[in-house]
Amino acid sequence: MAERKENIVMLPFMAQGHLIPFLALALQIEQRGYNVIFVNTPLNIIKLQQSLPPTSSIRLLQIPFNSSDHDLPPGAENTDVLPPHLIFSLVKASISLKPPFRQLISDLTTQHGGAPPLCVIADIFFGWSVEVAHEFGVFHTIFSCASAFGLACYYSLWLNLPHRNTDSADFSFPDFPESGLFHTTQLAANMLAADGNDPPSIFHRKNNLTWSNSDGLLFNSVEALDGIGLAYFRRKLGRQVWPVGPILFPGVRSGKHAGITAEKCIEWLDAKPINSVLYISFGSNNTISASQMMQLAKALEQVTNVNFVWVVRPPLGFDITTEFRAEEWLPEGFIERVVDDQKRGLIVVQWAPQMEILSHKSVGSFLTHCGWNSVLEALSRGVPLMGWPMGAEQFFNAKLLAEEIGVCVEVARGIKFELKHEDMVEKIELVMGQSEKGKEMRKKAGEMKEMIKDAVRDKEGIKGSSVEAMDGFLNAALLTKEKTKNGYTQ
Ligand code: UDP
Repeated sequence: MAERKENIVMLPFMAQGHLIPFLALALQIEQRGYNVIFVNTPLNIIKLQQSLPPTSSIRLLQIPFNSSDHDLPPGAENTDVLPPHLIFSLVKASISLKPPFRQLISDLTTQHGGAPPLCVIADIFFGWSVEVAHEFGVFHTIFSCASAFGLACYYSLWLNLPHRNTDSADFSFPDFPESGLFHTTQLAANMLAADGNDPPSIFHRKNNLTWSNSDGLLFNSVEALDGIGLAYFRRKLGRQVWPVGPILFPGVRSGKHAGITAEKCIEWLDAKPINSVLYISFGSNNTISASQMMQLAKALEQVTNVNFVWVVRPPLGFDITTEFRAEEWLPEGFIERVVDDQKRGLIVVQWAPQMEILSHKSVGSFLTHCGWNSVLEALSRGVPLMGWPMGAEQFFNAKLLAEEIGVCVEVARGIKFELKHEDMVEKIELVMGQSEKGKEMRKKAGEMKEMIKDAVRDKEGIKGSSVEAMDGFLNAALLTKEKTKNGYTQ
């Protein structure tokens, strides 16, 4: 605990998958007796005001951002409102936050009689913030909301272009042999197209290289779950690496319109047998195609001993200016037969109370895109996974979970995957039924739940690995401040 309240400044990228874990981390840091100053663009700050618990005194500060200056639609300050092809433009545009962020640190320093904040915690995309922090003698860390394994693959890919030194579809990373063999279908479109000279290659290479100037990396991850990737960064960057996760906070939500209340959901789940429900959701942004929706629905109709909660979104290519009616995208009579008559399914439109669902004992598996927050939420509740990675580092997460941890079966890959309902039926039965594989996965998921409990334990003098890591990070920041009272030296 700090002797007096020190200021810690946090700056996440403008996407739900970043804002939510940053805010959850902010709340943990605040509980340890620090003042948190949470910085973002105006529209995100306005939304976040509704997400903060009333007991929190986290300060939310705006820095200006004009999306129209970057060929983005007016008011586009969050990936939520952007089609996938414009997300990189928002990533790139965020470099324009550097001057106002610098001004903000300068103002904070002046307001505190020349004492700069203790630390800046910035997003993986904001490597430029290292320079700003160090200019003021401030300790700087990157906070990764991605797994260390996923981020290590991503880091290696952008630094070793072209990715493949072979014509084969299988390839490996020269500086990350522990990660094993990859397949080209595990590369997101921008990575597959990258040759080293295209805008994403140039941006990510430059950005990732700045990480080794940072004072360390915080991960929303757990040592015993993600050791391969954590070891990679320790070796590669020679920096301190602190896995402080899982940082979960069910109360922090995006302000997205929930399709159902948590109470209604729980009431529905209460009526279902233990481990009988498959929860289906693809994170905060992703959706599937109309034909994939159809095939998935057919599979769900056929597995008559499985119940499901399905977060349904307008399919890929849907005209969002028109009204979305889920029944128009499902097999004819599906809702009447499966939802109304058999009472086997709960269709939730757009947004579900995910943590509450995953925490319910009737949930037996989670069909997920393997976004890291979803993975941590499921594992902390002991729920085995059916993986359908769709983009970014989700492919690498699925690989880690299936091949290294044994808690996931990959059932589909990518947004163009040709989903066949017969195959899906087989996979659902494998995971949710009494197969050896299903039993093994449930056992492993149970072990993960215990492992995570141990990692976050802070009781009776026993500290778990994630608590120790958080202590280590805060002590390193305090120590640096002590050492560099008269200017920053690395
Ligand atoms: N989420 C939710 N309800 C939904 C969909 C998503 O609460 O219907 C939350 C989920 O609990 C997780 C986050 O949104 O905390 C999604 O993050 P993740 O890293 O899994 O995926 P991303 O959206 O970043 O691809």
